[in-house]
Amino acid sequence: MLIDGKKIAKKVRRSLEPRIDALKSKGITPGLAVILIGDDPASQSYVRMKEKAFKKLNMESKTYRLAAETPQSEVLELIDQLNADKNIHGILVQIPVPDHLDEMTLLERIDPQKDADGIHPVSLGKMVLGIETPLPCTPHGILKLLEYSDFETEGKHVVVIGRSNIVGKPISNLLAQKKDYGNATVTICHSRTKNIKKITKQADILIVAIGQPEMITGEYVKDDVVVIDVGSNRIDAPETEKGYRFVGDVDFEEVSQKAQAITPVPGGVGPMTISMLLFNTVYLAEKYGK
Ligand code: NDP
Repeated sequence: MLIDGKKIAKKVRRSLEPRIDALKSKGITPGLAVILIGDDPASQSYVRMKEKAFKKLNMESKTYRLAAETPQSEVLELIDQLNADKNIHGILVQIPVPDHLDEMTLLERIDPQKDADGIHPVSLGKMVLGIETPLPCTPHGILKLLEYSDFETEGKHVVVIGRSNIVGKPISNLLAQKKDYGNATVTICHSRTKNIKKITKQADILIVAIGQPEMITGEYVKDDVVVIDVGSNRIDAPETEKGYRFVGDVDFEEVSQKAQAITPVPGGVGPMTISMLLFNTVYLAEKYGK
């Protein structure tokens, strides 16, 4: 079975429509500000996708495109302005940022009440404590993929490969929490894990977020596993018109032979991440919008 992220992402977006209408009837249009610094082609393409998704739902999205050499003080000033702007309900700084900027300083400057990405230290702290807060978009999207596909996590052994702040750490924590689509037994693997195949072969659900093109082959999984491939890696493909294509961290051909269900790349986790950004912006507008 293919876990169709595009289809599920659309369902999530549709579920937001009445909430957006209700906000609009109160004179509030949920609005996101995106700060894009520099000209990284992948970031530019992600930001274009986000703009399109917001427009389609009649939400506001404003992108601030700053030159790569913009000093940190200017970015902080812009964040302060956006924090004070009542028409903006969510703010995100597209990562990665150029080397001279400190990602964490920029992130911490965002008002937690406008943290559309759900990765501000305050949001992550609340998430760990089980207090209502915007959840980080990719992990939240993974939970929705499991939920809409009816894959219960309770009592399952979930193996997560990767421990980044935006994917591996939060998804591991969420799955271990005592709540719906939690209650799993979670094992976290990373680059220092020894004998990784022995661990991944025990997974009922395997979540891979490592940024290593097609590393997870059939040898890493047991039959009937459910696989969520977060990876999004651009590889050369001279046979295509563009000269490149995107692959996941999982070898889809091999693993799909053994898996009970698997997400494709593209069309799996990616569209969900954007849907959850829309979700968070609506949530923040409902909670704090005036
Ligand atoms: P990071 O580079 O921040 O983290 C990668 C993690 O994988 C690290 O914890 C690292 O271990 C671990 N790792 C790397 N190589 C190996 C290996 N050979 N064996 C075991 N563990 C390994 O990545 P992100 O979490 O930000 O992203 C992961 C992937 O997901 C990327 O392809 C990214 O593009 C994609 N992504 C996709 C999104 C989407 O919406 N579709 C959203 C976010 C990310 P260690 O900590 O020891 O270094």
